[in-house]
Amino acid sequence: MAFNAKVYQEISAALPAGVAIVAVSKTKPIQDLQDAYAEGVRDFGENYVQELMEKQPVLPADIRWHFIGHLQSNKVKYIAPYVHLIHGVDKVSLLDEIQKQAAKLGKKIAVLIQLHVAQEETKFGFSSDEAMELFSAALPEKYPNIVFSGIMAMASFLDNTEVLKSEFCEAKRVFDHLAPIMGKEWNTLSMGMSSDWQLAVQEGSTLLRIGSTLFGSRN
Ligand SMILES: *Cc1c(COP(=O)(O)O)cnc(C)c1O
Repeated sequence: MAFNAKVYQEISAALPAGVAIVAVSKTKPIQDLQDAYAEGVRDFGENYVQELMEKQPVLPADIRWHFIGHLQSNKVKYIAPYVHLIHGVDKVSLLDEIQKQAAKLGKKIAVLIQLHVAQEETKFGFSSDEAMELFSAALPEKYPNIVFSGIMAMASFLDNTEVLKSEFCEAKRVFDHLAPIMGKEWNTLSMGMSSDWQLAVQEGSTLLRIGSTLFGSRN
């Protein structure tokens, strides 16, 4: 299946003002991204640095590339020149490297702090306490080339509405708690995927990361 424009429009139409979609195009061929672009999609999400490095140069320059995967510090330099938002910052050492690469380029890079709210151990991210502690320090002064834009969270791979709700709610709680400290650029709560985006929107998401519903299932 290629890009499903009808579903994209249906989801877009169902969203309250202030909620946007990142079309998650990982593993999908260039042609699928071009089709989505032709339908007006400008925000694309990729998980793998190598794949993003192959796609970015051959696609239109006004695409906003969201890096949503697990990012290794030694690969930051490859995406730093053009990445729009790094969703999965899960370590202080990764922040240090993003700061270093952004400073080298004389630019600012926007990031989201990944919060671990799911039950699965496999998922990355800070605990709520770690995140709140991290930010109570004078973080913005320490990272002048980083824009702290908000939080990214992934709920459990469960078919249990109450559990998912409480996980999204926890991410929203931490997001709100930090908002007064972080100021007006702290405006993005990235949560909700193909299977749980409605719930995420109910719980306050501002940015959905939707892949398989738009592009078909991945191998
Ligand atoms: C792959 C991926 C998505 C999209 O998942 P779908 O279920 O295909 O919508 C969203 N967020 C992250 C972090 C992903 O890795």
